Amino acid sequence: MQTFLLSVVVPVFNEEKNITPLLDRLVPLLAQYNYEIIFIDDGSKDKTSHEIKNAIEKNDRIKYASFYRNFGHQMALTYGYRSSKGDCVITIDADLQDPPEIIHEMVEKWQNGAKVVYAKRKAREVDSFFKKKTAACFYRFINFLSETPIPEEVGDYRLLDREIVQFLNNLPEQSRFLRGLVAWGGYPAEYVYFKREKRNAGVTHYTFSKMLNFAMEGIISFSTKPLRLASYLGFASAGIGFLGILYAILGRILLPSYWVTGWTALFVGIMFVGGVQLLTIGIIGEYISRIYKEIQRRPQYLIKETKNI
Ligand code: UDP
Ligand code: MG
Repeated sequence: MQTFLLSVVVPVFNEEKNITPLLDRLVPLLAQYNYEIIFIDDGSKDKTSHEIKNAIEKNDRIKYASFYRNFGHQMALTYGYRSSKGDCVITIDADLQDPPEIIHEMVEKWQNGAKVVYAKRKAREVDSFFKKKTAACFYRFINFLSETPIPEEVGDYRLLDREIVQFLNNLPEQSRFLRGLVAWGGYPAEYVYFKREKRNAGVTHYTFSKMLNFAMEGIISFSTKPLRLASYLGFASAGIGFLGILYAILGRILLPSYWVTGWTALFVGIMFVGGVQLLTIGIIGEYISRIYKEIQRRPQYLIKETKNI
């Protein structure tokens, strides 16, 4: 038996059919460690909590907490980190898309000195063409904008040393784009490669709008370049506007008989300036909404029930 404590955090949202299959694969693998498994029920409406409580009856290393409503995957992970006690903490999806078998390799890399061990997707055959493409575009875009490169093909399946868990737990910010925050720390990282499997049961909870929100969160919390872009757009449109003014005045003076035409120029000008204004106001609005959420200081989640935590 190893002497360190290994925590495995599993966020769950309507995963009733996945709890038993996950534990059947996970528990035998963890037998050689001193471990705890922490389920964070992110406001499930099905029998997820019932399934977990049944499992706790048989194995008291399993722990459980639930939220009053769905606060989101990143919040479930955040609370998981806060309630974990392990010397290292692994976060894993409940739907068996992240194969638990690579945990040994992850722990080994951690024992050899890595503070962060990412599970990196070698292949994504099972994900839809759309998901693959949007994910690739997102990472390219965010890495173009952000000062801290976020590793590609890496999700929330990772191992963190206690030091980094502590760093995350102490962070005062409300917004939690965890993979960005971990990358931001710049800790020595290692990779373990795996093939992403098909979801065991149920459907994905990341709808298109949730994915878009998640991407927006990532971009806004890790880059102020969009604001810079807004200024550049402002400068460019002001420059073009200035040329337009010169053109209009000179035209009026030099070619008085020609005037009156120019409806197209007027229309194009109004549309262009209007578009730039709306875009830049939108960008500014995104940052203001983020500031608003930060200063409201509302709790990030509300805990309904805990067991063994
Ligand atoms: N999840 C969660 N809260 C949510 C959405 C998802 O706790 O609001 C959990 C979900 O139960 C799963 C993990 O986060 O364990 C990953 O979600 P999912 O499999 O739906 O995402 P995908 O793999 O399709 O990106
Ligand atoms: Mg999944």
